[in-house]
Amino acid sequence: MTGSHPPSRSRIPGSGLAKGLAVTLRTMTKRAHTAQYPDVQPELPPRSRGVIGLFEENCTVCMLCARECPDWCIYIDSHKETVPAAVPGGRERSRNVLDRFAIDFSLCMYCGICIEVCPFDALFWSPEFEYAETDIRDLTHERDKLREWMWTVPAPPALDPAAEEPKELAAARKAAEKLAAARAEAEQAPAAPDATGPAAPPAEGGQA
Ligand code: SF4
Ligand code: SF4
Repeated sequence: MTGSHPPSRSRIPGSGLAKGLAVTLRTMTKRAHTAQYPDVQPELPPRSRGVIGLFEENCTVCMLCARECPDWCIYIDSHKETVPAAVPGGRERSRNVLDRFAIDFSLCMYCGICIEVCPFDALFWSPEFEYAETDIRDLTHERDKLREWMWTVPAPPALDPAAEEPKELAAARKAAEKLAAARAEAEQAPAAPDATGPAAPPAEGGQA
């Protein structure tokens, strides 16, 4: 069996140049897609990773984010505080109080691990990206700045219409319905006779 070779194609001289010119002409007639930033803001997808916002009220200072951060660029300081017993004779409890929470965005590689591992939903992505600095030290954002970024976090997307109602919402809705039903029942019930009504007239022949 002998090997077969593809048939050799004869090239027309100058065909490559003609093809190149055709591409150039096609491109010349199309609209340019140059983004005129910063005069025009880009339309970023809602899940863009711009900067991290901290919802401080949810943070329990568990340190999970700082431990899992591959760049070690999350700095957390805290102290313990004793909470008095809620009931007489009960036990005192101790809780962590946040003193410092900072992220160094000059080291951060925007992997999102800290946001994924936070068990208390205290960290969120914001699509904001305009925070370049001339001094690298200013790229360490302290808790106040991280809190400010929370205002730029987009609302979560709506649930799928066929999705199951979230447990927290279902519990809140049932409690509200129960309360409304109890109020309606109380309004419809007949008013009880007034115990402090007008006094009965004194019996005749009674003592003065
Ligand atoms: S996004 Fe990644 S690198 Fe940046 S702070 Fe979070 S865990 Fe660290
Ligand atoms: S993982 Fe979440 S709750 Fe724990 S310290 Fe980090 S931000 Fe706070």
